Amino acid sequence: MSDAYKHYIDGEWVSGAGSETFESENPATGEALGTFERGTPGDVDAAVDAADAAFEEWRELSRVQRAEYLWDVYHELRERTDELGEIVTKECGKEISEGKADVVEAAHMVEWAAGDARHPKGDIVPSEIPAKDAYMRRKPRGVTGCITPWNFPVAIPYWHMAIALVEGNTVVFKPAEQTPWCAQIIAEMFDDAGIPDGVFNMVQGFGDAGNAIVEHDDVETVIFTGSAEVGHLIQDKLGGVAGKRAACEMGGKNAIVVTEEADLDTAVHSAVMSSFKTTGQRCVSSERLIVHTDVYDEFKERFVEIAADVAVGDPLREDTFMGPLIEAEHHEKVAEYNELARKEGVNVLVDRTDLDADEIPDGHEDGHWIGPFVYEADPDEDLRCTHEEVFGPHVALLEYDGDIERAVELQNDTEYGLAGAIVSEDYRQINYYRDHAELGLAYGNLPCIGAEVQLPFGGVKKSGNGYPSAREAIEAVTDRTAWTLNNS
Ligand code: NAP
Repeated sequence: MSDAYKHYIDGEWVSGAGSETFESENPATGEALGTFERGTPGDVDAAVDAADAAFEEWRELSRVQRAEYLWDVYHELRERTDELGEIVTKECGKEISEGKADVVEAAHMVEWAAGDARHPKGDIVPSEIPAKDAYMRRKPRGVTGCITPWNFPVAIPYWHMAIALVEGNTVVFKPAEQTPWCAQIIAEMFDDAGIPDGVFNMVQGFGDAGNAIVEHDDVETVIFTGSAEVGHLIQDKLGGVAGKRAACEMGGKNAIVVTEEADLDTAVHSAVMSSFKTTGQRCVSSERLIVHTDVYDEFKERFVEIAADVAVGDPLREDTFMGPLIEAEHHEKVAEYNELARKEGVNVLVDRTDLDADEIPDGHEDGHWIGPFVYEADPDEDLRCTHEEVFGPHVALLEYDGDIERAVELQNDTEYGLAGAIVSEDYRQINYYRDHAELGLAYGNLPCIGAEVQLPFGGVKKSGNGYPSAREAIEAVTDRTAWTLNNS
């Protein structure tokens, strides 16, 4: 136990109340990367107590003073991008360019939040009454629980925490069990920056620690990114509790619409990038390709040719396009969905669920490798495989005949509403899609992939509950007050 990495509570590295530890694993090799203490509800109690006690002083600092700690973090993220990107890749198996991009995205978020501290906040509002000043002011809400997924292990925690901290909240962070090393580094950065004790706290561990944050009386806001299954559980728990707020960003069953007016080079590139990059394990990855009958055969031929051939490789190599899946359990889940699709009667075009030994990079035999699974399905059939998020390189081709209205109807035929793209050279089609696709993130003639902090990031329908991340994150972590003052 003494060799295990510890939790970070009240400005100290502390051993928790429990005796269990867990390993971080490199999904490309199966190699153990480190041992971490597994947090208990008792550890969450200690972290929340520390965050609660620190809140009163932290909120009294100016926003610019609070942002000073974030600027230190920002510089460290920038200076250590290559080194940290490599750690991200080792721990979650993303291709190295994606590992570094994760760190850069974290830096963008911290820069945005810290820079935003000098921008006006709230509004001066005209009053109906002479000599009355009227304002909309924002106040921090208090202890904020940040529960994050493994697939953006540096960026998403900062997406949650940077604005929460600048706005005067204190934080208890529960990272994903698969990426504790990345979380350890995040905590080290706040420690290096000298953030006051109790303002930032981290409890490593599993869902029971996350649940203890959700159920804690003194946690005012829970910011969650992860699966719809867990996100809706959290919403159900907190939805009816007075004063509590749950801001949940969840998964999707994303689609790319390729119309008869599409440039097929753009369409194939968009689909390959979105469906296979990061081995289909991005919240915006496309698992449905809705293709007009006039271009269907050519698109299918080109897409299938790439899917049958795309190589998996050592994610630390710059020329690798696709790394492994995150863990054995997830490999099993994706393989089960591939099997389910067969049972549901789809027409399988490419099945690389079990790769040949010579397709697996040397020295990586214990990694969690999988290749693309591509099939044709009837868009009007209510199949589980075409409606549930798989989170892997599992792709349905759905042929449609008709106008853009029909394509958008198919795009919207899912409970989710996270991301989607249209590929078309016809601006009437593009505009119709933009206005009617039920999505939080929509891309035109681009891969269905990517985020910028200047844009809201979040889904509608089952994918989100109205608190997008990035530039809108302030809505989750502040309350508004209408403040009026008699100035006569
Ligand atoms: P997950 O299984 O939902 O886990 C997310 C976090 O919730 C983890 O820290 C997890 O702990 C914790 N958790 C599990 N059960 C909990 C409970 N009962 N109460 C509180 N916390 C609990 O998701 P994941 O597998 O890490 O990530 C993949 C999913 O995230 C996909 O669905 C993907 O689409 C989605 N995602 C969405 C976005 C977005 O912005 N919309 C971005 C990235 C990913 P453990 O460590 O034990 O798992």
